[in-house]
Amino acid sequence: STTFDVNTIRQHFPILSRPDINNHKLAYLDNAASSQLPKAVIDRLHQYHQFEHSNVHRSVHTLGEEATNAYESARKKVARYINANSESEIIYTRGTTDSINLVMQSYGRANLMEGDEILITALEHHSNIVPWQMLCQEKGCLLKVIPINSSGELKLDEFLRKLNKKTKIVALSQVSNAIGSVNPIEEMIIEAKKYGAVTLIDGAQGIPHKPVDVQSLDCDFYAFSGHKMYGPTGIGILYANSRMHDRMVPYLGGGDMILHVTFEETIYNEPPYKFEAGTPPISAAIGLGEAIDFISNVGIHNIESHEKQLLDYAHEKVSAINGVQLIGTAKEKASVMSFVMGDIHPHDIGSILNSFGIAIRAGHHCAQPVMKFFDVPATARASFSLYNTFDEIDALADGIKEVKRVFNQ
Ligand code: PMP
Repeated sequence: STTFDVNTIRQHFPILSRPDINNHKLAYLDNAASSQLPKAVIDRLHQYHQFEHSNVHRSVHTLGEEATNAYESARKKVARYINANSESEIIYTRGTTDSINLVMQSYGRANLMEGDEILITALEHHSNIVPWQMLCQEKGCLLKVIPINSSGELKLDEFLRKLNKKTKIVALSQVSNAIGSVNPIEEMIIEAKKYGAVTLIDGAQGIPHKPVDVQSLDCDFYAFSGHKMYGPTGIGILYANSRMHDRMVPYLGGGDMILHVTFEETIYNEPPYKFEAGTPPISAAIGLGEAIDFISNVGIHNIESHEKQLLDYAHEKVSAINGVQLIGTAKEKASVMSFVMGDIHPHDIGSILNSFGIAIRAGHHCAQPVMKFFDVPATARASFSLYNTFDEIDALADGIKEVKRVFNQ
């Protein structure tokens, strides 16, 4: 599509011009945690709060109608963006964590039985581990894990070996938030379906960086968060393929998810409302719709190719520094560069970089099993977005050299 100019892109993000992070210009390299908001999204939130705010789905008054229209038109944008077959497949949640828990509670609790198996990968975020452990505990199911090799790539032969008729759910991240590996979800979904397993993709780190087409993936569920794709916090999406709807019981009970209530009995609303009890995060949903417009205008292919160049450049620059070890060297990676520096604690790396205005994440990234596999307590993680520059990566490399100097290494 259109040509991509990072300096023009940066002008859409007011926060990037902050000159005052410890007397340095901000270099924001923590996009895997949360990305920043373009002005179009900020303005849309402001406009909504100033002139359109009201509850949705309830009122006959003008504001109620406007808020409902804006909220439902954002749902349409999401549906179109991921190529869902119907808006009823787009369930608003609070985020990826909430989306996965919805699947666990609503599909998992109603359908899994003792002896059934749930298959995840060694790369998962805690939010795609803990809910399944809870379900296994409750139902007597077995949690199985697809291992990784020393580059951080899934061992697909082990995946095929672990799949069997007892495998009821295969829950996979599209991209690892801890080390950036891109998993071959397309072929894994095909294999899982041969055994009748239900497939869930944790797309939290996928959808900000790659095109997503849920019909061509043909997964049953796809979960993601607004705040990692230039939208606000507090909003997420669960795509639930309509073939699953009759097999899912309600998640939360309350207002909006019902058609009719008496003390004797409740008739539930149709999906997606059946799974959306209570007043939703209306403004955040509208903001997410605006973020999707922003991404569409830039073009996800432009974003993907810019980020690929950034990641390649960062790998080259940073791995050339003596004493720096990359964690996660999969052939297919997106956006994330994790590294360690001998026995210097990643928190110290993060603090020293922060003193130069460089924001990275240091810690276990909610993926403690990944840390354990690589035998490190934590990593330093730089994660890139469409607005990052080669200059910022140069600054990161200079900062890392300064870390070495501080620690006499
Ligand atoms: N899965 C992955 C791969 C993630 O990176 C994250 C966020 N770090 C989550 C799930 C959880 O997302 P949220 O905190 O928005 O619920």
